Amino acid sequence: MIKLSGIRKKYGHHEVLQGIDATVQKGEVVAILGPSGSGKTTLLRCVNFLERPNEGELTIGDFTIQCKRARKQDIYTLRRKTAMVFQQYNLFRHKTALENVMEGLLVVQKMPRDQARERSAQLLDKVGLGKKLDAYPSALSGGQQQRVGIARALAGNPEVILFDEPTSALDPELVGEVLAVIRTIAREGITMMIVTHEMSFAQDVATQVLFMDEGVVVERGTPREMFSDPKEERTRRFLKRIA
Ligand code: ATP
Repeated sequence: MIKLSGIRKKYGHHEVLQGIDATVQKGEVVAILGPSGSGKTTLLRCVNFLERPNEGELTIGDFTIQCKRARKQDIYTLRRKTAMVFQQYNLFRHKTALENVMEGLLVVQKMPRDQARERSAQLLDKVGLGKKLDAYPSALSGGQQQRVGIARALAGNPEVILFDEPTSALDPELVGEVLAVIRTIAREGITMMIVTHEMSFAQDVATQVLFMDEGVVVERGTPREMFSDPKEERTRRFLKRIA
């Protein structure tokens, strides 16, 4: 479960998040939609303190953090409960697919090497890369690299996975394979927040849709409510523009 209460984030004088409240139940998939610059990525990065919110309270599972007062140990605890999948994959270039997935298990979890190797190989197999364990990122397509990123996110057994536009750097023909993997994981019941511009994917996989604009959640609802019968003019305009 994720609960955000009054999350605010400022860069200089620009308040990019102006008091975000949201609740995501265990196993839910929340799609975050909105125009460029509305604060979607910043919100996601606040959930694991890649950006420190200036105000608000954040709960993940049984752990609550007061953003203003968060100490290093709190942030460390929070990060162990979350994993992030980035738009640009963020893989280590000089490590193989297998080593990329193993890294967190060895360094953060201090898992014995053999065990880390076995778990990482299983996860790469799960994302369809069982034959690419020893490939370096430069020898993988964007879609394959992103699937390594997803395997790496799964490795730490997080309570929550945060996806920041996971397909927007991909050539169109590679988007489907990555969405298929995310869809499979979603069906296994892991809690997810996904910033995406893939409307049909959001419609298909999300249990809840948040529409953001100018640092606030303008509207939220089920995909059916949001896509067939949006209540707010700003949501309607956005959906019409991208249709
Ligand atoms: P996009 O869909 O284009 O990725 P977004 O909705 O994810 O946009 P954010 O990336 O969260 O939007 O950015 C929200 C606002 O915050 C933008 O005006 C952006 O310029 C600003 N911003 C984001 N990161 C920083 C930063 N590190 N320093 C200063 N301003 C920032």
